[in-house]
Amino acid sequence: MGNWKTKYKVGDLADKQRIEMICKKCSRLVYITKATTCTVRGREQLYLDEIENRARCKAQGCRGRMRMAMDRQYEMSGFVGGLA
Ligand SMILES: [Zn+2]
Repeated sequence: MGNWKTKYKVGDLADKQRIEMICKKCSRLVYITKATTCTVRGREQLYLDEIENRARCKAQGCRGRMRMAMDRQYEMSGFVGGLA
């Protein structure tokens, strides 16, 4: 189950699915959702790992790279089941 980031596109997320984004530099934690990610047309076609690679921490002066993690409240099995 380690490849969910390359397997799923943003558009595959459930509307209420939250993805954790943690800054590798300052540990700032933010949540993203399909709605907040797809503010630019066509972005729903991006794979989650592409979102991760593009994300940068918005903390002032940080600009660190972000690590994507599944919200613990939304178990992986539920995620996959929700796609069926
Ligand atoms: Zn940061």
